[in-house]
Amino acid sequence: MRILLTNDDGILAPGLVALHAAVADLGEVSVVAPASPQSAAGHGITVGGELAVERVSIDGKFWGLSVEGRPADCVKLAFRALLPKMPELVLSGINAGANTGINVLYSGTVAAAAEGAMLGAKAVAFSLSTGGDLDFTRAARYCRAVLEILLEGNLESGHLVNVNVPRLKEGGPAGICIARQSVAAVDEKYTGRRDAEGRDHYQLTDWYGFLNPTAESDVAAVERGYITLTPLHVDLTDSSRLESLSQLPWKRAMEKIEAPRRRRGKR
Ligand code: MN
Repeated sequence: MRILLTNDDGILAPGLVALHAAVADLGEVSVVAPASPQSAAGHGITVGGELAVERVSIDGKFWGLSVEGRPADCVKLAFRALLPKMPELVLSGINAGANTGINVLYSGTVAAAAEGAMLGAKAVAFSLSTGGDLDFTRAARYCRAVLEILLEGNLESGHLVNVNVPRLKEGGPAGICIARQSVAAVDEKYTGRRDAEGRDHYQLTDWYGFLNPTAESDVAAVERGYITLTPLHVDLTDSSRLESLSQLPWKRAMEKIEAPRRRRGKR
């Protein structure tokens, strides 16, 4: 199996090193990852600029290609230019910090995996909750066990799964929970200051909290100590509103759009 390993914490991040060690025997693993930390890069890509690529030794154990770009850039470039054959499986992570709830939308880790799914690979994003021991070797062992079952099961080309490991403590995780992505809003804080020229500057602080996540959501399950798996798709369509939106009087809008042409036609 051809595997592409990437992340958003940067190619030298310990989460990537640990995941590499945990999956190296599953196939031919290529590493293409951002040269610098790209957390919260979302699904951004680089347009109108070059992507510098360098071959780097990672932890003295294996080689990878570092890309001066976004996580999604790395996956696109790997598929389109860097790798001789298309990867069949894209693994992203292990991220330092959970990617649950609406953080899925900000996450470069999830976006990199999503890009792989969009390009036709099977894709899995892995993240480890902070607040406990950031032992990526232990987390990678959990990720490997989860991945084996996914590969045995119905993971198909184009499928994306978001895996979150709860904060590590003695005794291990409570279990494995297949959970829906929470859409709970987030409470957060900005600090502010005024500089000598009178300009205001704001900075988002590390602190944030989910406001009333539903009990069966990924946010709540990870909090309760479960490893969560959430199947994701890139279709953002709100199917429940397709019908009501289509019933608005669109004919009137078309009449307005076409009115100038009709006036011209009369002349
Ligand atoms: Mn990150």
